[in-house]
Amino acid sequence: MPMTTRPPLMLYLAAPRGFCAGVDRAIQIVEMALQKWGAPVYVRHEIVHNRYVVDGLRAKGAVFVEELSECPDDRPVVFSAHGVPKSVPAEATSRQMIAVDATCPLVTKVHSEAARHHTNGLQLIYIGHEGHPETVGTMGQLPQGEVLLVETPEDVAGLSVRDETKLAFATQTTLSVDDTAEIVEALRARFPAITGPGHEDICYATTNRQAAVKAIAPKIDALLVVGAPNSSNSKRLVEVGRAAGCSYAQLVQRAGDIDWRALEGITALGVTAGASAPEVLINEVIDAVRDRFEVTVELVETAVENIEFKVPRILRVPAA
Ligand code: SF4
Repeated sequence: MPMTTRPPLMLYLAAPRGFCAGVDRAIQIVEMALQKWGAPVYVRHEIVHNRYVVDGLRAKGAVFVEELSECPDDRPVVFSAHGVPKSVPAEATSRQMIAVDATCPLVTKVHSEAARHHTNGLQLIYIGHEGHPETVGTMGQLPQGEVLLVETPEDVAGLSVRDETKLAFATQTTLSVDDTAEIVEALRARFPAITGPGHEDICYATTNRQAAVKAIAPKIDALLVVGAPNSSNSKRLVEVGRAAGCSYAQLVQRAGDIDWRALEGITALGVTAGASAPEVLINEVIDAVRDRFEVTVELVETAVENIEFKVPRILRVPAA
């Protein structure tokens, strides 16, 4: 409800925020697949973790399923940006399906690292969230039981490994940079010979969005993160905001989710968005804030992103 006298509010808008190159590409892949083959195009798992995006693609003819067994053999299927276990494309090939892989190239890079370590005889320790599709996909690159999952520094202490001198680690791309650094430190302390990526596999988009939140956290009384409850990188932004000193941080999917009572009396608000949240939803949230406060917006830009990923070749050649 618009108010007659609105209290003043500084709104610090984090940049970068919202869509990353991997999400952009995944959505483009589904749209191009629909153009090329017509509806329905099946998509295994939410293409990206955002209901608005998924509903939009569904309206254009995408059918979202959780397992390949739910797809007919004679319709194209797209694998989500989070990546899939090796068994999934193998099944699609055996059923002679048209399969388009929308796995983010930065996740595919982690899959390749995992496979390389395995080939070199190293046991892999994966830092990630149990049950998240990216974790399932990356662990599923190697035979069952070959990857040990850790979620906390405490998990490292409880690890039972084959050979302490033959270990490697990899990480989920959307983790908290700071929490992951602690886990990597615990791994290196317990297993000095462990091999890993230079730092970790957390992607540029996750890193940049967390850095922008850290930059605004000292200036704000509250933080709104636009994102879905199943979006790993969005949830991490809430945690990063809190850890950086912002006592109130809320994850909202749409403007209707904002808890206005919690924002009563604030004079400075931060707004950011996870990598799967479209700008239209960020604007919806800002407009809702404008309805209740006399808003002055300040952009806090900590990095400029200009990364783009190509879509798979199969979508770049005309249908036969
Ligand atoms: Fe790729 Fe990172 Fe975006 Fe995930 S968050 S899709 S890894 S760029």
